[in-house]
Amino acid sequence: MAGIRHLLLEHADEADLTKLAEYERFGGYQQLRRALTMGPARIKEEVLASGIKGRGGAAFPMGRKMQFVPTPDQTQKSIYFVVNADESEPGTFKDREIILRVPHLLLEGILISSFAISSHHAFVYIRGEYLDAYEVLRHAPGDAERRGLVGGNVLGSGWSCSIVIHRGAGAYICGEETALLDSLEGRRGKPRTKPPFPAISGLYASPTEVNNVETVASVPRILELGGERYAEIGSESGTGTRLVSLSGNVERPGNYEIEIGKLTLRELIYDIGGGIPDGRTLKAIIPGGSSTPILTASDIDISLDYDSIAQAGSSFGSAGFVVIDDRCDMVHLALRVAQFYMQESCGKCTPCREGVRWQVEIIRRIADGGAEQGELDLLLDVCDRILGQCLCPLGDSSAIAVASYVAKFRGDFQRALDEGGCPPGSTLEGVTAPVDEAYRKLFAELPIPVTA
Ligand code: SF4
Repeated sequence: MAGIRHLLLEHADEADLTKLAEYERFGGYQQLRRALTMGPARIKEEVLASGIKGRGGAAFPMGRKMQFVPTPDQTQKSIYFVVNADESEPGTFKDREIILRVPHLLLEGILISSFAISSHHAFVYIRGEYLDAYEVLRHAPGDAERRGLVGGNVLGSGWSCSIVIHRGAGAYICGEETALLDSLEGRRGKPRTKPPFPAISGLYASPTEVNNVETVASVPRILELGGERYAEIGSESGTGTRLVSLSGNVERPGNYEIEIGKLTLRELIYDIGGGIPDGRTLKAIIPGGSSTPILTASDIDISLDYDSIAQAGSSFGSAGFVVIDDRCDMVHLALRVAQFYMQESCGKCTPCREGVRWQVEIIRRIADGGAEQGELDLLLDVCDRILGQCLCPLGDSSAIAVASYVAKFRGDFQRALDEGGCPPGSTLEGVTAPVDEAYRKLFAELPIPVTA
């Protein structure tokens, strides 16, 4: 199908790539062998040339991030490589698929990246609720170590690297990289003040590179193709492929690997996703996980690339596309999203801790019919006072998302104010608990046990 291109999931439909022997049969770990002969500087050049942007949501170029980490002759400290697998953004479940289906691709990416920054210690911080993915991933380093791919003297190169798989305890905030590092050190996960940035003072106050699962899993493909050829895939505003999570009110939810900029939102929802069930109509789309501003049905023809989504007023974010049909009242959805951020706020800074609670209280009054007319402006004022005043992106995420619902669907909010609350038929059915359902469908025919 046009727009679908498998780099990350190549051969994943043909074989069980959770098994090391199968992964090696399809060329697995060949790029690690090459990397060990190339040396750190050339690997970093290839990653920089590839133009790959971080897939966790912030879209910072991985090649530049690698260059921020001091080399061993610039620091006396250990250098750490950390993979952020704390995938908690509502609507996003792509990293889980990579771990479940191609765990050795991730491991190979970890080893190449660690070698590139001269690290001997890598960590994967995996979301606590991802027990199935953890069960797959925790065996992979041991299997690889028995083949000489991990541990002391990797493939006889003289370079050593240990890999620790660490389960989180189920806090959304630990997806923020400095909170993740605090949690990894054994403390309660709370964002740190930046600067210093992790590249200079991260894990155990040492130079640390933190990258998302999908970004790291792309590294073997970048070496295989070469940075320049990888950069020819995709579009000017973003190179390579992205694994997008499609969920909500759509016939075929699941993860789809697409070439960036080679298909539209309409093609994703209707051609790939099968359209909206039961003849209902499209009302809105969250394009990059719940932190991103909402799009309307009129945005359906935008190209799926960073610039086009930004021009439509939103962000590619974590590529978690949530499709919302006409049964949903936006007051209802705004309340649910704000409640999520209130629940997950770590409480460290006042605008987020107090402001997000205010958002919830005002939206709840609007939804229940107990709000006065001026409260919609009060809600926007609260969003404004949160924005840019917080230590980490969580507070901003709630403010941006809620303000976008009001901006794009003011009619829903005004109707709730005028008519005494949300219409009784409004429902979030299929919108807010899509992951397990999507996974059940997606993995129904794969030889991997998936827990519900
Ligand atoms: Fe904690 Fe919210 Fe402040 Fe982030 S923005 S540090 S989650 S209180």
